Amino acid sequence: MVVFLAMMDDISKTDPEIFEAIKKEGIRIRNGVELIPSENFVSKAVLQAYATFFTNKYSEGYPGKRYYGGNQYVDVVENLAIERARKLFGAEHVNVQPYSGSPANQAVFFALLNLGDAFMGFDLSAGGHLTHGSPVNFSGKHYKCIPYNVDKETELLDYDKIMKQAKEAKPKMILSGLTAYPRKIDFRAFREICDEVNAYHFADIAHIAGLCATGLHQNPVPYCDVVTTTTHKTLRGPRGAIIMCREQHAQAIDKAVFPGLQGGPHDHVNAAKAVAFKEALQPDYKKYCGQIVKNAKALADSLMGNGLELVTGGTDNHLMVIKLVNKGLAGKGKEVQNALGEAEIYVNKNTIPYEPNTPFNPSGIRLGTPAITTRGMKESEMKVIGECIAKVIGNHTDKAVIEKAKNDILELCRDFPLYPGMEVLR
Ligand SMILES: *Cc1c(COP(=O)(O)O)cnc(C)c1O
Repeated sequence: MVVFLAMMDDISKTDPEIFEAIKKEGIRIRNGVELIPSENFVSKAVLQAYATFFTNKYSEGYPGKRYYGGNQYVDVVENLAIERARKLFGAEHVNVQPYSGSPANQAVFFALLNLGDAFMGFDLSAGGHLTHGSPVNFSGKHYKCIPYNVDKETELLDYDKIMKQAKEAKPKMILSGLTAYPRKIDFRAFREICDEVNAYHFADIAHIAGLCATGLHQNPVPYCDVVTTTTHKTLRGPRGAIIMCREQHAQAIDKAVFPGLQGGPHDHVNAAKAVAFKEALQPDYKKYCGQIVKNAKALADSLMGNGLELVTGGTDNHLMVIKLVNKGLAGKGKEVQNALGEAEIYVNKNTIPYEPNTPFNPSGIRLGTPAITTRGMKESEMKVIGECIAKVIGNHTDKAVIEKAKNDILELCRDFPLYPGMEVLR
């Protein structure tokens, strides 16, 4: 804890309540395993860039074209962030200002569609995101979403079926990308479908950005009109997002972000994004992403070896979804999530394809390896974590089983301090 808390001498005195919560959160992440696939742990350099006086600045506009004075250093930061992101993904144009993934997607809708236009997006219960056309989200409320789904038998995307559906629906845009689909996405196939029906192809790679940037998965940029990604998932940067697009859409995208949707950019976040992109351009980051995938396969094998069933029977990326149905736990995702949480194993409840229950009481558990891979864990740790998870799921109301798993996890975490200065447990 010590390094970061040392920077907090003042807050420990001026605001002990918040200080205490920060300290306890440090202990929580130190002693447990973070398996929520949308989470990660940023480097100390990213944290340092984030916690600066750039948070104070107003810089509405873009580099060289600001509405406020005193932006010469903000311009340096934003230009570096843009250049590094362009290099990372080979994109023609990048906007680094979106506050987060959802507003980035909203800006793309604003730029490419008119209100009420039809588009196709990945069904939420099978692995899409809220912003891909859920009826409770702006994307489903203000635009006409025709969802595509996975095949009921294989639980995989079936590109022939999507092609057929697109020919009937004639959407203006097709959105590809995932939040809970454990397999590779064929962005080239989506491009072919879009060309066939004259639709824009918009890919949202919030989860898999790191895998795409390092060539482990197909990079969608060559096959898309627009690509968005969050910066805080596999990319291992601060909370935020970027939009990448072809030069022909650059002006529409930039205008949609500012002044269409947002005011001043968060310059401290953009500084931290630039640092994260620099890290992602290093050879070590490619090794890291390779290990994420190896760890996901090892964790999936351990879970299946211990009698659990996974959506699609495995994983090609950083995440997997456990189906609780064959354990007699349909609709018990929340209870299982809480039992695992008591053992300091952090996961999230999730719907499964053709969910028999409800999103609030779903029948799946989603988990992934980006955060624990950042911590340095490898295949042998995945085996232990998989065993602990299987035991808790098999006995999710048994306090003794949960306590035993918690101790095993604590023991496992002993050698993985997370941040310098956090070597000592508790
Ligand atoms: C996480 C995610 C988002 C949203 O990101 P927020 O930063 O939470 O708004 C958008 N799309 C996909 C596919 C995601 O997984």
